[in-house]
Amino acid sequence: MFLNTILNIIFPTHCVSCGILGLYFCSECLSKCPYAERESAEWIFPLYDYRHPPIKKAVWLIKYKGKKKLIGVFAESLYGRIAEELTEIAVMENFSSPILIPIPLSRKRLRERGFNQAELLCKEIIKLDKNKFLELGKNILTKPKDTEHQARIRDRKLRLKNLTGSFEVKNEKNLKGRNIILIDDVTTTGATLSEAKKVLRHAGARKIIAFTIAH
Ligand SMILES: [Zn+2]
Repeated sequence: MFLNTILNIIFPTHCVSCGILGLYFCSECLSKCPYAERESAEWIFPLYDYRHPPIKKAVWLIKYKGKKKLIGVFAESLYGRIAEELTEIAVMENFSSPILIPIPLSRKRLRERGFNQAELLCKEIIKLDKNKFLELGKNILTKPKDTEHQARIRDRKLRLKNLTGSFEVKNEKNLKGRNIILIDDVTTTGATLSEAKKVLRHAGARKIIAFTIAH
């Protein structure tokens, strides 16, 4: 606590939305953020509306600056939403013991950035999962091929084509019949998540759902 106080004096942190000192995203501002409109695909659960400027800014800080405290804030929101969804489908759809899998970056992108924001989110979500209901899937889904930034491709068909064959599954035997929860920071057209789903299904995974911070 004392150390935190000192750190806050030396490196003051401000809420990305209202600017209040001490928090990266205060709970009041977060509670005011509009929720995302649902993706057309019913297996994708985005949390917040990406068009809301504080969300856009927060996602940027996570993606390019790896802001730990913001990752913690959204990991909590994601975990809450996952837990909520699981109470429904765990029994109804036999969605048990899911593996949490981050959307991977290519090795090139990972080298440039130094971290994978989706992986950092997964690690924080796992820490919150005190009942150990979730399992972290490390190095299961990989991205050997570097692809053009999806955001730069306007056409949906081209986006899908850009991703075809970009993901690979390792340790396939551990996936047979398993349920999967995919995690990413943002989904736009759902093309990345759909391609990942396709590859995982092909490797024998049972049911796959996805959660993202924003859409
Ligand atoms: Zn605030």
